[in-house]
Amino acid sequence: MAPSHVLKCCQKVLAWVPVAFIALVVAWSYYAYVVELCVFTISSTAEKVVYLVVFHLSFVMFVWSYWKTIFTYPASPSNEFCLSKADKEQYEKEERPESQQEILRRAAKDLPIYTTTASRAIRYCDRCQLIKPDRCHHCSACDICVLKMDHHCPWVNNCVGFSNYKFFLLFLMYSLLYCLFVAATVLQYFIKFWTLCRRKAAENCPKNELPDTHAKFHVLFLFFVAAMFFISILSLFSYHCWLVGKNRSTIETFRAPTFRNGPDKNGFSLGCSKNLREVFGDEKKYWLLPIFTSLGDGCNFPTRLVIMDPEQLTVSSQNEPAKSSGSNQSFPTRPLSESQNRLLASDSQWVESGPEEENVKSGAKKHITVSLES
Ligand SMILES: [Zn+2]
Ligand SMILES: [Zn+2]
Repeated sequence: MAPSHVLKCCQKVLAWVPVAFIALVVAWSYYAYVVELCVFTISSTAEKVVYLVVFHLSFVMFVWSYWKTIFTYPASPSNEFCLSKADKEQYEKEERPESQQEILRRAAKDLPIYTTTASRAIRYCDRCQLIKPDRCHHCSACDICVLKMDHHCPWVNNCVGFSNYKFFLLFLMYSLLYCLFVAATVLQYFIKFWTLCRRKAAENCPKNELPDTHAKFHVLFLFFVAAMFFISILSLFSYHCWLVGKNRSTIETFRAPTFRNGPDKNGFSLGCSKNLREVFGDEKKYWLLPIFTSLGDGCNFPTRLVIMDPEQLTVSSQNEPAKSSGSNQSFPTRPLSESQNRLLASDSQWVESGPEEENVKSGAKKHITVSLES
């Protein structure tokens, strides 16, 4: 085997170390809680049953969402974003960047693309040889272009992007609940173990004291570990809640996507409630389950077509031209990137007059016009 292959194999194996570490901690926490705490330490049967039922519920949801985050393959752009054979040959032959851009511009003419690089060039991945859809980025760890890439997470050894962002959020939420439940129920035994009964036999101890057994170490550690994980995950989860509310990825926080009118970090924001639906879907009954319900196809996203605060936007329809909050404010009256987008070829695909729920639906056909056309 060539040395580069061996190195790659080693890297692949090493990448699983953080996942194995988490799995070991979770497996130990299960043993410590169920066996050492519930079976050996808690004497009341009712308390045992309630703790075990709630514990297993949060454990199953946590493991399920963690599993889905790890093993959901990151979605890549569809074939329509790849250059045709002729274009690819021409692109490779061409040495001048302007001519290469011309080829890309021609190829991107019919694609639903609204964003460019900061220097107004078509975003192209040389490695995957495709035109990058909006919000798509190349992950060097996975070596593929990932749709709506958020970040590459070593703790799940996977890219967090369009296909598993909802699972990642649920994983954070359920791990918080799991840690909180464990820490809260262990707390009283944690305190009791500090005032241990020194008598060897359990039956010689007073009722409110715990015997000095090996369960002590597990219970003490369980509290420390649960509290530590809870604190560290809390900040990450809060940050991602904020990102969902803004319809922004971690990458977009650091580098705002460039639209026709310039960089706009809120370019994809449709208002808090619609942003939430973009990730969790329209049906509330599936929101808390790690089942894929995100809206769209990951290749094209509804965009905020005017530069203003999304919370202040009034959704306009053809029949009812919207009045902007300040009537003297001047907004661009034409949508962005109109010239290069097939979605804008027909007005009927863009202007929807139906109820609000139906406006921002999946992908290409259901874009909402928030431009204040007068
Ligand atoms: Zn790529
Ligand atoms: Zn990745």
